[in-house]
Amino acid sequence: MKEYLQTKQTEMLQLLEKLVNIDSGSTHKEGIDEVGGILKSLYEELGFEVEVIEEPKNGNNMVITYQGNDNPTMLAVAHMDTVFRVGTASERPFTINGDRAYGPGVIDMKASQVALLYALKALKEKNPTALEKIQIILNGDEEIGSSTSRPLIEKYSEGKKYALIMEPARKDGSLVTARRGGGRYSVYVKGKAAHSGVEPQNGISAIEELAHKIIKLHALTNHEEGISVSVGIIEGGESVNTIAPTAVAHVDVRITYIEQAEVLDQKIKEICATSDVAGTSIELEGGINRPPMVKNQQTIDLLEIIKETGEELGIKVTDVATGGGSDASFTSAMGVATIDGLGPVGGNTHNEDEYLEIPTLVERTSLLAEVIRKLADQ
Ligand SMILES: [Zn+2]
Repeated sequence: MKEYLQTKQTEMLQLLEKLVNIDSGSTHKEGIDEVGGILKSLYEELGFEVEVIEEPKNGNNMVITYQGNDNPTMLAVAHMDTVFRVGTASERPFTINGDRAYGPGVIDMKASQVALLYALKALKEKNPTALEKIQIILNGDEEIGSSTSRPLIEKYSEGKKYALIMEPARKDGSLVTARRGGGRYSVYVKGKAAHSGVEPQNGISAIEELAHKIIKLHALTNHEEGISVSVGIIEGGESVNTIAPTAVAHVDVRITYIEQAEVLDQKIKEICATSDVAGTSIELEGGINRPPMVKNQQTIDLLEIIKETGEELGIKVTDVATGGGSDASFTSAMGVATIDGLGPVGGNTHNEDEYLEIPTLVERTSLLAEVIRKLADQ
């Protein structure tokens, strides 16, 4: 399949250019649906059936299955949205400079879309029966937390043996086998306003109360156990000479093991259940909603198969853990052996100088095709 794909590199780069030059930021439904439309017809040409799940506000999601096959063992997930606003593609369109390609979303993850499609094309050519074993979800809201696609990903994870998540490989080419989970909270505090010069004794400071809460929340951080609690934004008060009647803190929480979620949630609730400054009231919103992706035995077994395949192709496969979230967390929490970072190699994602290492486009597509072929026989 590698030789076949080598003859397709120009074609792959042309498709990549087309996809990168369509703005498809998460809030730009029109652009995401345009990308979806192009991919839909390409999958149909390969003999796949594409179900489009219409979304009123977000980009549409798609579930792609090979010709009415009802027993696929693998799920591949790739997102079509990017983090870039409308107009970015015309300001800095797809360009090639030496061995690197640039443009909005080029590596996160439009190159992955091209890789997945061409891996399937190569299989169609050389090992067509493998196609029956794979089902694909292309989603339109990953960069904003996958709120509409998460239920789909969970539904189609059921009964699968393997999940292949198409986020790009890391800069050094590593795959991703663990990700931290987490969530967000907001702490709203109410006190009582009073002139801080005239009658300070009549005021109750919401900011003072929040200060106590911030210290206690941060004290829950435990780097050794992979737990972090960080107040990232605070707001409060009305003027410098008014005792602050309101204050709010927005809190980012990360965990490494799913068992930590409930314990940590309980501690956060306990901290916010009582006031340190008499007379204030506290309201807590939010929760831990993204499970961690854990490198368990089934991940290690799947990684072994990928490493072996890599060796046959002359690619040294390494893996890392990362703090950021992706759809891998959802398939992993559903009990499916999951590997992420199966896209081509690149870096500086979400930045202006985001890039794809062009030689890895064919290389990683070959790896993916061979991995799917092997897993189809498992
Ligand atoms: Zn991504």
